[in-house]
Amino acid sequence: MADDERAEELETIVAIYPELQIDEKDQFRFFLDIAVSPINPATISYPGSSGTDLDDENDRASAILHHLPPIKVDMTLPEGYPESNPPTVKLSDPSAWIPASKLKELEELATALWEDYGHSMIIFTYLDSLQQGAETAFDVPTTPTWALPTHDLGITLIAFNASSAQRIFDGETHDCGICLEPKPGRLSHRFNGCGHVFCRACLKDFYGDAITKGEVANVLCPDSTCGLRKIGPKRTRRTKRTIDPAELLAIGLDREAVQRYVDLKRKRKLEADKNMVYCPREWCQAPIKSAKYPPQPILEDISYASDTGDEGEAEPLAEAPVQPAPVPAEPATTTTAKEPPKPNKAPDDRLAICSKCQLAFCRVCKASWHGEYLYCLPRSAAELSAEDKASYDFVLLHTSPCPTCSVPAQKTYGCNHMICPQCETHFCYLCSMWLDPGDPYKHFSREDLPCQGHLWDAEDGNEEGAQFNGPRAFEAMAMAIAEAEAELDAQVGPGVES
Ligand SMILES: [Zn+2]
Ligand SMILES: [Zn+2]
Ligand SMILES: [Zn+2]
Ligand SMILES: [Zn+2]
Ligand SMILES: [Zn+2]
Ligand SMILES: [Zn+2]
Repeated sequence: MADDERAEELETIVAIYPELQIDEKDQFRFFLDIAVSPINPATISYPGSSGTDLDDENDRASAILHHLPPIKVDMTLPEGYPESNPPTVKLSDPSAWIPASKLKELEELATALWEDYGHSMIIFTYLDSLQQGAETAFDVPTTPTWALPTHDLGITLIAFNASSAQRIFDGETHDCGICLEPKPGRLSHRFNGCGHVFCRACLKDFYGDAITKGEVANVLCPDSTCGLRKIGPKRTRRTKRTIDPAELLAIGLDREAVQRYVDLKRKRKLEADKNMVYCPREWCQAPIKSAKYPPQPILEDISYASDTGDEGEAEPLAEAPVQPAPVPAEPATTTTAKEPPKPNKAPDDRLAICSKCQLAFCRVCKASWHGEYLYCLPRSAAELSAEDKASYDFVLLHTSPCPTCSVPAQKTYGCNHMICPQCETHFCYLCSMWLDPGDPYKHFSREDLPCQGHLWDAEDGNEEGAQFNGPRAFEAMAMAIAEAEAELDAQVGPGVES
């Protein structure tokens, strides 16, 4: 009886593929996922963001995939199989990495095999040939690089690859190199960089101890051969790569220990980088090399900036209300140290320009660039207290530089017409544009400028001012983002480069 033959064949198939599922309504229909883990992993490249042009070679990301989403088999043995009818096969791939034409070709293979084998039972032969095809991912990935059409497909495949690798790892047993015991994968950790595996309990003890003792340099992969390189016939060197804080959290170290590790590492790095200055903008902090000009204390006077606070004729500078920039007062001892004050450094030594945010700043006092003729605060950057730092940040946020001499000017009465206290340049506080001294207010009525109607914007609070979209608003926004990030850092711990 034909039914018996079909049932008999299916019984054998279920024994070979225990994960196979028989349809509840049709005993001769079944579903099976064919795993795709190609022998040669596929190197993919995909658009770096969803908006990227497919042809934009500059914005493509890449990854190596060991596992691809399975091909789903839906197979039915119709009445009359195998003598007179071939099996019907429907293949699908929800993540759509296999082209439709390839799926069709693989579906048609079932009938072709059935013909080749003279109308006999071919389910195993067919499934086996699919599995063999999976070993090369059905020749879909091209070499050396498989260019994916969309960003989303790239992300889908990478996520699938990661979860598959984790599932396989969790299901295996691994010998821990520290306690020398076999441990299940879910209690083990494989290092992102080198792939060495240890049990989490051992790693927690090992790193917890090193961090408690302040030996951050020992927070390395415990494998004694890890990173070893031959550099001569009898010499080797070990490339030390300290473990990422995020990985320590994944291993199971508590937040407190990881935070201490981050702080210690940052301190070590600062000590090592005496010649490095960092962009003083809180939200930027890009490192700028200054091997030639290490920051040194300069004991000098400081000039203060002000605005005119006057919307009529510019008053003589001496009578303009002077609002000192909120910086720490200079210790009395240093004012009398030198008369008259004179910079002890060539002025251009002090100017640094951030390569990331383009901020021009003074590498000695860390204020935004105050021009050659302004003296620095009587402090070295290294001696800055948290309070001082906050003051400088305030200066950066609440002043605009003069477009002629870069002196930071702070407005007092909400008038955006500024007169530089140093060089008497008239300029706009909002956009730092030069203003015509003969008619400085024309700028605020020009329809083509964002400053139109903003002569009297308040620094903040005022609704009109909040709508201004110029550089000051940008800076305020950037500071808000930086604050949010700092908060996040405090919770999670920042990613520190190794
Ligand atoms: Zn162990
Ligand atoms: Zn290692
Ligand atoms: Zn910067
Ligand atoms: Zn300075
Ligand atoms: Zn000026
Ligand atoms: Zn303006």
